Amino acid sequence: THFGFKQVAKEQKQSMVADVFHSVAAKYDVMNDLMSLGIHRIWKRYTIDCSGIRSGQKVLDLAGGTGDLAAKFSRMVGATGQVTLADINHSMLLVGKEKLTNMGIMSNLNYVQANAEALPFPDNHFDLVTMAFGLRNVTEKSNALASIFRVLKPGGRLLVLEFSKPTSDVLSKIYDTYSFHLLPKIGQLVANDAESYQYLAESIRMHPDQETLEGMMKEVGFEQTTYTNLTGGIVALHRGFKF
Ligand code: SAM
Repeated sequence: THFGFKQVAKEQKQSMVADVFHSVAAKYDVMNDLMSLGIHRIWKRYTIDCSGIRSGQKVLDLAGGTGDLAAKFSRMVGATGQVTLADINHSMLLVGKEKLTNMGIMSNLNYVQANAEALPFPDNHFDLVTMAFGLRNVTEKSNALASIFRVLKPGGRLLVLEFSKPTSDVLSKIYDTYSFHLLPKIGQLVANDAESYQYLAESIRMHPDQETLEGMMKEVGFEQTTYTNLTGGIVALHRGFKF
């Protein structure tokens, strides 16, 4: 593959992912709208609708990037609640912090640079953890899921919004053509960065499908796991609880 992806060692993948998000940070939001034709907003809205979040609760938006979900949760949990936007990448966190500060987001939001595989939070701390389009970038996904499980309170919920496997062959072919041919071209034109968007296409193809990811969640202890396919399975929202 373009990055010799299957051969790269763990540290190499981590620094490659770091380079990608460092490079796309400034243009991340505009590219998201462009590449998904704005549909990522609908996927995120659905995630928020499934969050069951209430005023006063604690939320971790992991791999939160430029903070779309964190901004919404900050309003929902109110002054007595707490939202933590955590991301491994300093550039993404900076763009997120600037955006949310300009939006006048409340003081219930804090920003933490952290690796999903080793979260620097106490056990049984959060009512909800969300991870939108982040898990596929993590090298050891099971470590991240176990780390999330640890920091969730009993009764807490995990929502993973991520690219997944299209349910129809026709859609799958159209989507492959789009992501491997058109996406890097859009990346080149708008962000002068074809490579990062080539990485995006490859990381999507290599990400575990719906059933595999649900199995991985169960493996680390999540219960009542379910998933919902969105846009024909291009994206799926996985849910699981810690009891
Ligand atoms: N959640 C945001 C959204 O939906 O718009 C941002 C998603 S962006 C595609 C993926 C994010 O995952 C990047 O900000 C990247 O830095 C972060 N990330 C990648 N690997 C990570 C890791 N191991 N731990 C925490 N965050 C990570």
